[in-house]
Amino acid sequence: MGLFDILKVPVKCPYCGAIVPTGQTKDLTNTLNTYKIGDHASDKLKYLDATYACRHSLRCIADSLAMTNDEDIIGMLFDARIMLDDNGIITGEYEVYPDKLFVKFVKAGSIEAALKYLQTHPSMFHKLRKEDKEWVKKHRPDVYRRIVVSTL
Ligand SMILES: [Zn+2]
Repeated sequence: MGLFDILKVPVKCPYCGAIVPTGQTKDLTNTLNTYKIGDHASDKLKYLDATYACRHSLRCIADSLAMTNDEDIIGMLFDARIMLDDNGIITGEYEVYPDKLFVKFVKAGSIEAALKYLQTHPSMFHKLRKEDKEWVKKHRPDVYRRIVVSTL
């Protein structure tokens, strides 16, 4: 059955800075196995794409409720790339995806959150994929104008 596996790889929440201890990945066995730093994960992959939910600050809990109005998904979601070494071992190194973060804010209809994010990461708009920029332009022309004007 397609589920996910659990990664005990701490990642810093890009919204509030708290350390989120565990995430989920669909890149491995999808059987609710747990992997931690030092474990062998894969012979083929260079990294694992993972999803994390931060419930570790009042700010993240409040923001996630404001964005979704759904108490079942309390926690700010973000994606991280968990790096493996040459032998497929989980190293503890990771990257957080800035473009997905931003698009998630915008798609959730949270203009204020999106703009707040860009204020602290002003160069991020230019790192968005072309299709994401186009999406913002089409669906949130007000946000698009404000971002483009403010990052000129
Ligand atoms: Zn957080």
